[in-house]
Amino acid sequence: TGGGSQLLASGGHLSREINMADAPRTVLISGCSSGIGLELAVQLAHDPRQRYQVVATMRDLGKKGTLEAAAGEALGQTLTVAQLDVCSDESVAQCLSCIQGGEVDVLVNNAGVGLVGPLEGLSLAAMQNVFDTNFFGAVRLVKAVLPGMKRRRQGHIVVVSSVMGLQGVVFNEVYAASKFAVEGFFESLAVQLLQFNIFISLVEPGPVVTEFEGKLLEQVSTAEFPGTDPDTLSYFRDLYLPASRELFHNVGQSPQDVAKVIVKIISSARPPLRRQTNTRYTPLTALKAMDPSGSLYVRTSHRLLFRWPRLLNLGLRCLACSCFRTPVWPR
Ligand code: NAD
Repeated sequence: TGGGSQLLASGGHLSREINMADAPRTVLISGCSSGIGLELAVQLAHDPRQRYQVVATMRDLGKKGTLEAAAGEALGQTLTVAQLDVCSDESVAQCLSCIQGGEVDVLVNNAGVGLVGPLEGLSLAAMQNVFDTNFFGAVRLVKAVLPGMKRRRQGHIVVVSSVMGLQGVVFNEVYAASKFAVEGFFESLAVQLLQFNIFISLVEPGPVVTEFEGKLLEQVSTAEFPGTDPDTLSYFRDLYLPASRELFHNVGQSPQDVAKVIVKIISSARPPLRRQTNTRYTPLTALKAMDPSGSLYVRTSHRLLFRWPRLLNLGLRCLACSCFRTPVWPR
């Protein structure tokens, strides 16, 4: 697969040659039963130039109906569905053994879980599950496909990170920490892998309107969070949750739009190490980038949430307003 690729130096940048006559690239995606993974699998499988053979994986094959319906005639042609639990060595080995030659050209680490709420009310087991899935799940898959990619001197590893991999967000401490871990791990690995013509891309969506967010907000609005003091509980329920709903409502992106950005990155001759997908969110990430001490971001977030929630709402509506709109990826 993709035998003609090689590392090129062009304009001072490293880029990979894409030979259009190459055989289709095998793309393995985790977490395809819903959301971004499902959309990405379908878009790649319908590529007009048929450049991809998609192995769309999910933990529970009982949920494959929506994906199969969306894949349509691509099912069994450019898209196959396979079982894969990113938290299990056996499941990963079993899945790779079913891929012809065991060769994955593009790995998309998409599977992920969230965790929101006051820290005092969350169990360590729930926190460990977030790291097992979001961080060790991605590491497990990379360890499995890397020897083949290195042997072939070719590969692309795409990771669905988050803007919360760049900056912490109140009441999302453990989820953000898992995405920070992902960012640090893959940025470090990227340096070594360039030597093998293997590229890494961290995709950083802002809020995306998927089951992920729907399920989470529904669960936490009724959860009790035992052991949490009344002040913290009230900040969470009366300030954070309404602000979070406003954020998703005004600035949220569709999984289709995020998938389009990832398709572009996968087909790129010069894949970027990082790509935020939602420019309506960039004023918020800019607060951190503008002040390396971190104070500007932490103090502004604190003031907007705890002191001036109405100004926060107004600001979010401004970001959503079409008269203010900056271009949103993909252009
Ligand atoms: P989603 O819940 O629709 O998709 C997540 C998928 O991961 C689900 O299909 C789920 O079954 C799967 N999954 C969970 N544990 C798994 C395991 N052990 N093995 C295999 N699959 C497993 O939500 P989504 O928004 O499409 O999430 C996809 C990725 O995008 C996640 O990594 C998430 O952290 C990231 N993300 C989401 C948002 C958002 O607001 N929705 C924002 C930024 C980043």
